[in-house]
Amino acid sequence: MTPSAQLTFLGTAFSIATTQNDHTHFVVQGAKTTLLVDAPSPTVHRLQRAGVDPTALSAILLTHFHPDHVSGVWLLLMDLWLMGRKQSLPVIGLKHCIERVQTVLKAFDVAGWAGMYPIEWVVVEEQVGAAVWECEDFAVTATPVMHFVPCIALRFYHKPTAGVVVYSADTQPCQNLLELAHEADWLIHEATGLGVGHTSPEQAGWIAEQAKVKNLALVHYDVLSPDPSQIQAGAQAVFGKDVWLAQDFKTIEF
Ligand SMILES: [Zn+2]
Ligand SMILES: [Zn+2]
Repeated sequence: MTPSAQLTFLGTAFSIATTQNDHTHFVVQGAKTTLLVDAPSPTVHRLQRAGVDPTALSAILLTHFHPDHVSGVWLLLMDLWLMGRKQSLPVIGLKHCIERVQTVLKAFDVAGWAGMYPIEWVVVEEQVGAAVWECEDFAVTATPVMHFVPCIALRFYHKPTAGVVVYSADTQPCQNLLELAHEADWLIHEATGLGVGHTSPEQAGWIAEQAKVKNLALVHYDVLSPDPSQIQAGAQAVFGKDVWLAQDFKTIEF
């Protein structure tokens, strides 16, 4: 039987995290590949708690330069150096994000970190179907979405199973995302709430329905809500199938 890829949520919250739900980020694992998507907070212990060896990361993918998505990236880069990483590490994102990550890393005087492994900066084109990552296990592509700063949604195609997961990142409903999510096995969609630059649970349900995805998981939701079941119910009312309010350290397979 062909082994599935695994996506493990390391966080599922919107811009305010709690002890139960960290900021939204996750790790995608294939037979030989481990991809981290966003690094909002001290990531090493989240990976360890998920049973993922931090030193085995194949690449870090960054959706956009907002604190609740990148604030842990410099600490992670330093920790991997201190944990003895030697192999180069791709850090992948839009020019807007990569330039700012580099600026702060410079401010941390990375040049003085003796024996620091090489970082392979990879700039993703801000266009539909942009290439992000290609290996034996996965082909990852991106599309620009509508947020306050340049931001990309990601599509993970797992080659051995032909399974597809699409992650909206932070966005308001947009045509690019609808197309990227078309008939995906899983759509992982933000559900921050109604307003510019974000999506409500009902809108996320509508996108999932329009894109004809098989499964919908909501992330980046209001974890301070007194009744989170209402968030799930809002999307469920529009999407004709079950909706899952994603939880930290839970896994999906594709
Ligand atoms: Zn954002
Ligand atoms: Zn966010």
